[in-house]
Amino acid sequence: MTPFDLVVRSRRTVTPEGERSAAVAVRGEKIAALYDYAAPLPAAEEVDLRDLALLPGLVDTHVHVNEPGRTHWEGFDSATRAAAAGGVTTIVDMPLNSLPPTVSCEALDAKLRAAEGQCHVDVGFWGGAVPGNVKELAPLHARGVHGFKCFLSPSGVEEFPPLGDGELREALEELAGFGGLMIVHAEDPALLSEPAGPGYREFLASRPGAAERSAVERVVRLAEETGCRVHVLHVSGAECLEVLEAAQARGVPVSAETCPHYLTLAAEQVPDGETTYKCCPPIRSLANRDLLWEGLARGVLSCVVSDHSPSTADLKVPDFAAAWGGIASLQLGLTAVWTEAARRGHGLGDVARWMSANPATMAGIPGKGGIKAGNDADLVAFDPDADTLVDAARLHHKNPVTPYHGRTLKGAVLTTWLRGRPVDGSPHGRLLLEVR
Ligand SMILES: [Zn+2]
Repeated sequence: MTPFDLVVRSRRTVTPEGERSAAVAVRGEKIAALYDYAAPLPAAEEVDLRDLALLPGLVDTHVHVNEPGRTHWEGFDSATRAAAAGGVTTIVDMPLNSLPPTVSCEALDAKLRAAEGQCHVDVGFWGGAVPGNVKELAPLHARGVHGFKCFLSPSGVEEFPPLGDGELREALEELAGFGGLMIVHAEDPALLSEPAGPGYREFLASRPGAAERSAVERVVRLAEETGCRVHVLHVSGAECLEVLEAAQARGVPVSAETCPHYLTLAAEQVPDGETTYKCCPPIRSLANRDLLWEGLARGVLSCVVSDHSPSTADLKVPDFAAAWGGIASLQLGLTAVWTEAARRGHGLGDVARWMSANPATMAGIPGKGGIKAGNDADLVAFDPDADTLVDAARLHHKNPVTPYHGRTLKGAVLTTWLRGRPVDGSPHGRLLLEVR
């Protein structure tokens, strides 16, 4: 047998079929084969994790890197270091909050130039669908973006306006013509209001679950009419679940995600003025959180991704009406979700499906999302029983601003391999453009 470049053994190897005791043999950048845990295998390098877990690298399809233009909020170097430290080996960058937003091929070129040579994990890109750029969608698709993001309500930055009803239909028809994917921030602007005060209660009341449900109904209807594949981003309101479930049952091409903060934090626990918890749609009640977990268990929600949307600390003023809306959690998604998933009786196989396999499938990223022969050797050594105290200042995020500061989370990432090589400080991530 030709020697392998790397063999990683673990009695808790998380494969698409579930946890098993295995030796993962790597040749070059790929997983060559899985063998029995104790199989004698010639290898240049061998790691035995014993009872520690071996996970597939996470695929986080919802990350706002913000570079170029708002690199002081987050950039490719810091974001991808944080990703690797959190067990994430692929991110897909959102088209807004950077300047320019990724709404044309020229803007994508600016993104690629900014990212080149800085990435510690693999990075793909979403394009943006905004009023007036429908003719840019096919060229961006041809360049290899994974799909297009749109808003139905104001995005928070003026350079990325929402689509009106007619514009949404036009964009979906355009995408349906080439098999594109639309990913949607679904809140109905007609049901949103200005917060009546600076507190969390007023902020939450200004963005009710009914606004999400109404927007999801509209998106489902248009997906059904146009045949365009759609994905609903960051579902927070449990009111959305029955709409999504009914649509999926009758074959509408609609998938949906939720985020670690909706699954692990709750409105009742937001401290006064602590706007690190502010995001849109908002974190809702404990009872709502239970329903989201049920939606995940049933598969109505298929993906759990971070929606890492950081800012500098000065924008998190202690007023929920005025503060920047966005939660920084890229490095913490795995441990946050694992903490709550384990408490609710879920296994590492569930977490790997929600945070690796399903996002890879949703975004159409080949070779990622599972420990199986032929896939990229994106691997994470994970201690599922460790306790980790979060210190925001010690994270790789550019700004030490996160609602998880001071929490103890379950699990610790020990080593992250990207395509067979440990992530070690020299950036060897690739820019992923789909070949079309
Ligand atoms: Zn987002």
